[in-house]
Amino acid sequence: MTSPGLPLWGSLTDYDPNSLSVEQARQIIRRFLHPVAERETVALRDALRRTLATDIASPMNVPPQDNSAMDGYAIRLEDLSGNTTKFKVAGHSFAGHPYAGTVAHGECVRIMTGALIPDGCDCVVMQEHVDLDGDSIVIRADHQHRAGQNIRRAGEDMQQGAIVLSSGQPIRPAEMGLLASLGFAEIEVYRKLRVALFSTGDELQQPGSPLAAGQIYDSNRYSLLGLLSELNTEILDMGNIPDNLSLLKNTLLDAASHADVIITSGGVSVGEADYIKQLLAEIGEVVFWKIAMKPGRPLAYGKIGSCHFFGLPGNPVAVMVTFQQFVRDALQILMGQHPAPALTLPAICTSPIRKLPGRTEFQRGILTQDMQGNLHVRTTGEQGSGILSSMSRANCFIVLPIEQGNVEAGATVKIQMLPT
Ligand code: AMP
Ligand code: MG
Repeated sequence: MTSPGLPLWGSLTDYDPNSLSVEQARQIIRRFLHPVAERETVALRDALRRTLATDIASPMNVPPQDNSAMDGYAIRLEDLSGNTTKFKVAGHSFAGHPYAGTVAHGECVRIMTGALIPDGCDCVVMQEHVDLDGDSIVIRADHQHRAGQNIRRAGEDMQQGAIVLSSGQPIRPAEMGLLASLGFAEIEVYRKLRVALFSTGDELQQPGSPLAAGQIYDSNRYSLLGLLSELNTEILDMGNIPDNLSLLKNTLLDAASHADVIITSGGVSVGEADYIKQLLAEIGEVVFWKIAMKPGRPLAYGKIGSCHFFGLPGNPVAVMVTFQQFVRDALQILMGQHPAPALTLPAICTSPIRKLPGRTEFQRGILTQDMQGNLHVRTTGEQGSGILSSMSRANCFIVLPIEQGNVEAGATVKIQMLPT
């Protein structure tokens, strides 16, 4: 399982591990990601946020047959002329209860939304456009009618045999409904990704226990538990591990033997008790980076055997930023998905921002929309990487590119929405 030897970057000659751009770091991580292969069958009702492992060809037309888009009357359009506007109501077609007979010339069928179009009929006239006259209707002359009007055609949503979902598709509520509309009660998905998680730091205490002098609560593990739960991973929560070389080593080896991915926080800077880099080099292979970004400068990526390792910084905001910028996509790829790059939107920055060129910054922002629909963004205020309340107040990142200097109020900046 452990495979010391050539470091991962032995084959990568095109980067400097001490000053990577955000985009370079993303691309390098991508080179090492191979999706899980194992599949399992799950009930559709349990499939939310799983990843489809096969293409889905529609086994049928949806809708299965032509049906009415309106409450009204089904007619043969050829019967309607200037002289003939009166039709005898021959019967009815309700959703789930089709009209069994054949519609003769001069007849119509009372029809409700979703009900089958009776044989011979090719037009549905809205009930608002007719007057009742005993057991007949009179179609008023104030509207034009055409063949196919108010009819939903068989297969207009999905045609039999068409590929309607592709392997790698995450199952969201829309896909739950879509698969149900095709009659699937169970589907094949990739197995869940197993992610081991632990915090490092002698100063960390668990929520629920009193703090001794010098202690702080272990908040990172909870932010990460939330982020990982949203991706529907199988989480191995290994708690908080003190800054102790042999404890950390045993924990890493244990995690690597059970998980596809290990995520840690803390211990990746260059302080005296920051052992993670040293340990990774010893028991695995490490690409240890200083990324030209703020917050989140130290970020370790590497492998222990076949297990991926992400060593996130200790600062609480940096943990969330680096997860969003690197780890989320990587996990989605490992889960078999094909994540699109995060969307960025232009917004007018209403407050000035101080920034030095040289690093990409992910400032926490509050995006609002004015009456004209224009997007305005302001920072959440103090941007220190320990100010976790900024992540809670923010609804977006203000992404300031590496070469950007100070931003004046009124300038246009790019924002990236945070998941809600
Ligand atoms: P480190 O990278 O271990 O030097 O940690 C950097 C900063 O983040 C220090 O101020 C730590 O106390 C803080 N920190 C590290 N881990 C956590 C955690 N799990 N929860 C909250 N703060 C943390
Ligand atoms: Mg630490």
